[in-house]
Amino acid sequence: MEEYLSQLNDAQLAPTLQKDGPMIVIAGAGSGKTRVLTYRIAYLMSQGVDSFNILALTFTNKAAREMKERIATIVGSSEAKNLWMGTFHSVFAKILRVEADRLGYPSNFTIYDTQDSDRLIASIIKEMNLDKDLYKYKQIRSRISSYKNSLITVKAYYQNPELIEADAMARRPKMGEIYKNYVDRCFKAGAMDFDDLLLKTNELLTRFPDVLAKYQNKFRYILVDEYQDTNHSQYLIVRALSDKFQNICVVGDDAQSIYAFRGANINNILNFQKDYDNVKLFRLEQNYRSTKNIVNAANSIIDKNQTKLDKVVWTSNDEGPKVKVNRSLTDGDEGRFVASSIFENKMQHQLKNSDFAVLYRTNAQSRAIEDALRKRDIPYRIYGGLSFYQRKEIKDVLSYLRLVINPADEEALKRIINYPARGIGQTTVDRLIVAANGYNRSIFEVLQNIDKIDININTGTKNKLKDFVTLIESFQVMNQTANAFELAEHVTKASGLIREFNKDGTPEGVARMENMEELLNGIKDFVEGQKELADATASLAEFLEDVALATDLDADKGDSDHVALMTIHLAKGLEFPYVYIVGLEEDLFPSAMSMNTRSELEEERRLFYVALTRAEKQAYLTYALTRYRWGKLIDAEPSRFIEEIDDAYLDIITPIEERRFNPMLDADIFGDDIPETTRRANANKIRFKKPVQPTFKKKTGSNNKPEKMVISTPKNLKPVDKATASTNLFDTKLTVGNLVEHLRFGKGEVLKIEGTGSDTKAEIKFDKGGVKKLLLRFAKLEII
Ligand code: ATP
Ligand code: MG
Repeated sequence: MEEYLSQLNDAQLAPTLQKDGPMIVIAGAGSGKTRVLTYRIAYLMSQGVDSFNILALTFTNKAAREMKERIATIVGSSEAKNLWMGTFHSVFAKILRVEADRLGYPSNFTIYDTQDSDRLIASIIKEMNLDKDLYKYKQIRSRISSYKNSLITVKAYYQNPELIEADAMARRPKMGEIYKNYVDRCFKAGAMDFDDLLLKTNELLTRFPDVLAKYQNKFRYILVDEYQDTNHSQYLIVRALSDKFQNICVVGDDAQSIYAFRGANINNILNFQKDYDNVKLFRLEQNYRSTKNIVNAANSIIDKNQTKLDKVVWTSNDEGPKVKVNRSLTDGDEGRFVASSIFENKMQHQLKNSDFAVLYRTNAQSRAIEDALRKRDIPYRIYGGLSFYQRKEIKDVLSYLRLVINPADEEALKRIINYPARGIGQTTVDRLIVAANGYNRSIFEVLQNIDKIDININTGTKNKLKDFVTLIESFQVMNQTANAFELAEHVTKASGLIREFNKDGTPEGVARMENMEELLNGIKDFVEGQKELADATASLAEFLEDVALATDLDADKGDSDHVALMTIHLAKGLEFPYVYIVGLEEDLFPSAMSMNTRSELEEERRLFYVALTRAEKQAYLTYALTRYRWGKLIDAEPSRFIEEIDDAYLDIITPIEERRFNPMLDADIFGDDIPETTRRANANKIRFKKPVQPTFKKKTGSNNKPEKMVISTPKNLKPVDKATASTNLFDTKLTVGNLVEHLRFGKGEVLKIEGTGSDTKAEIKFDKGGVKKLLLRFAKLEII
């Protein structure tokens, strides 16, 4: 232990060795907050605190796993195994499972993921005959989510005239009714959504003092990472559990609070000292993650926020290169810049792909980056898309398994009752839902009693429904003796899913089969892993719980070498040697939706601070002058955040123009890729008609290169004059047989003309490039 404690500086040692009482560590990015939490747990254990009595709440399950591994190297893995560590959701799902009957839930309750919630809400909106343009299910879901996270139950909703009024004003007077139906339906299906995991935990702890006492006694030491992003519901849970022993240690950084839009309450960190008596406050100031230039640039940004706690962050690390800023003409160019820069850095500094991360504000931005990385053959992985378990074919398999465990699970049933097709139509399903609502029973119970109830379904269909029930019941029988893997394997065959996936022999079908095999392997791993634990049951229910809460970040075992692509929100707490923050443009970052109030803008700035502080050695900030958004090409201006960084830490690098028309990379730019050509054509307009004005302050100091505003002409091309660049050829008399010359493909012959007006396309056989179909509006062609 001593040896490990020597890996902390004095400021970090103080909170690590502070064994008892409430304490808070407030410190800037990269200063070792997470490290302190980790070492503190190991220290507590070395001081005789039983590992069963420690609860650590982290922001991702991956963070919990890494922490546990670290602790295992210090105190030994058998002890570390007993620690309760994970996200709020995963920890309290486990507790709810034990205590479910108190709340009237079965212990095998299903966890509805966002997709399930969406589908249920959409179905309720339809059943209530509401206008789905007014009642958008995603908006409704997020509204319900915010009620739940503020502990506003349906009852509380109806007792709150302000809420009712607000929804009426938003032209959603039926909001309360939808909320009620949704809650009822989830309850009847034995299902909890993500927010329920917190809401129901609160209910459990407030309604049942004996349960509260049990967990207060169990979790004598509670630690919370990223405390600045806890919401009200989470806050109350932590308060309740720590109330008896008051051994609560939270760490966080108000400057990294970035989830207000999802209900996180920055006041939880600001008010911590008022919530407990004799709170010890610790500060850490030394950043170990980043170079001086990165730390200073980040400091100069966060300085612009008015609402913040005063904090010092400095580093004794190397000065490092300045933060590089790169301008591109289009988002496609931006992607190519990032890809070639990663490529160059890799070569120059002998780096792995996993040393790089590309961070963006919105998921939609990944496409251009992906395209460019693919062309360079740089392996990458996108995080935060659909998790593996949310893919269609995987959810199909899982839905069967869910139904085995909990036959009341309505969303699972609706998904597979006619998949693979069994001749059970939507009308039948609708009638089943009506009957289930009418009898106040689950759909599965209605199915089991289909002959005894009054329902308008013909005998043929009834028989099909009975077959379905028999199928599921046979799985349930098997589940009593077989392990999760054996059952899952049997289900994929007996349900007809394998046949369904194999049916068409398409590459998609093959991919689906492969995914299904991966799922089965995963279940096998799970079963094997559980065998090691003496008290584990290797039950399917447990596997499904893990799956419901898994994100693709959690699934990453670090076993493959790839560049990481993710939103900044997801990157919280992580670090990478090289970080590219892309799309630094007004209305994108800061987001157009966050510019109404100072507090929204400040949250965007904190987000930028989080992004920049992920970088260890080098950060790049990139922006494009035009970008495709919502299917339209728009002009963009550089983000104010770039200007807000102190010039001394910035290096404005060569404009992208000189990198354009790289024949190695841009091979299909003028080919069939219409959006890309549209982009370029418009970029050209800007390039030739509207020279871009520099937006940066004049540089001072000898090391600062002035920003190059010279628009250079690629050496390997003839200069494109204004006329050629913006004139379209579609109104010229190009005909079949014409010989033409293209800027990049060289000479060619027109084989075919199709379409009219601005959609006119020509199929041209080029001497160099082969046959290409070009949209004449954009093609740089000359008749020769
Ligand atoms: P964030 O605010 O981004 O979550 P953090 O405050 O949690 O950051 P850590 O992730 O714990 O910071 O630490 C940042 C990096 O510095 C890690 O790589 C960590 O291993 C390293 N580090 C922390 N403290 C020390 C130390 N005393 N000596 C050497 N390295 C350290
Ligand atoms: Mg951290």
